[in-house]
Amino acid sequence: MTQETNSKLLKGKPLADQILLETSQQLERLKEKGIYPCLITIEVGSDPASRYYLENQRRTAERVGIKYESRQLPDNIAREEMLEVIDDINQDPGIHGLIINLPLPEHLKASEMQWNINSLKDVEGVTPQNLGKMVLGTEGLKPCTALAIVELIKSTGVDIKGKEVTVIGRSSIVGKPVSLLLLAENSTVTICHSFTSKAGLLEAHVKKADILVAALGVPEFVKGAWIKDNAIVIDAGINSVDGKMVGDVEFEAAAARAGFITPVPGGVGPVTTALLMKNTVDAVYMQLSNI
Ligand code: NDP
Repeated sequence: MTQETNSKLLKGKPLADQILLETSQQLERLKEKGIYPCLITIEVGSDPASRYYLENQRRTAERVGIKYESRQLPDNIAREEMLEVIDDINQDPGIHGLIINLPLPEHLKASEMQWNINSLKDVEGVTPQNLGKMVLGTEGLKPCTALAIVELIKSTGVDIKGKEVTVIGRSSIVGKPVSLLLLAENSTVTICHSFTSKAGLLEAHVKKADILVAALGVPEFVKGAWIKDNAIVIDAGINSVDGKMVGDVEFEAAAARAGFITPVPGGVGPVTTALLMKNTVDAVYMQLSNI
């Protein structure tokens, strides 16, 4: 931070390291019982933008001792053939977690593929079963970025109960699930989206937020001047501008007002990857009884 600031930088690495340490301890206990967790990513064709993300997943999995495999499928694979691959993995007791890397080629429907994942192997929490469990507040696998955001907020030590939370973004993978999780933490949640902006109301919703979650994917759209004094600002945005990675919040100006703020990169991202590993171990426990 170059500008004078009162805020604490909420880096993801210390929290990610702690999650990974706990996960590797759980993995040790599983291995003593002869269980070797395995995580698979299906990649259809090759998306250069995913390379960094997937390599990061592989490195983190190998670091904690989860077997990681990337299954490459040709980009002209037929729908039925891909569903068969998913079904084979669903049936394979040696595979505990499955991720379908997006985007998929146009002839394949991402939701159809993801919704065919066995919900007990759905480590990204994208199936209707797991999203439904989150609505109902019962045990299930939850989307890692949403979990990461909540864990980062909790790591500040600030009591979430009764706080005004504004979430910008309503996707099924970030905005909606994080809103549900923060509602379950007894905060008051306002969900904003593109029509909030079109109505000219986004600034007012940001200004009242004790906790702001930005997950819209528009570089530095949220102005620093809108941030409430001492607010917690969690920026999930990943945007590339002139070859540099920036978030959805105008960082320097926001940091001058916030109590806590996540950097981009190095905030939500590492915690998300760590929680993917934790979800894989949780998935093993859900799949196997009597451990
Ligand atoms: P989506 O594109 O699926 O959703 C974006 C959401 O933001 C939509 O609900 C959209 O509204 C809303 N939005 C877009 N423009 C505006 C605007 N001008 N004002 C208010 N709301 C707006 O994105 P994701 O949820 O998948 O991802 C969001 C961001 O988080 C991206 O930058 C992505 O790269 C990042 N991300 C980070 C991860 C991490 O691990 N750190 C993991 C996953 C995502 P509407 O619904 O009306 O269209």
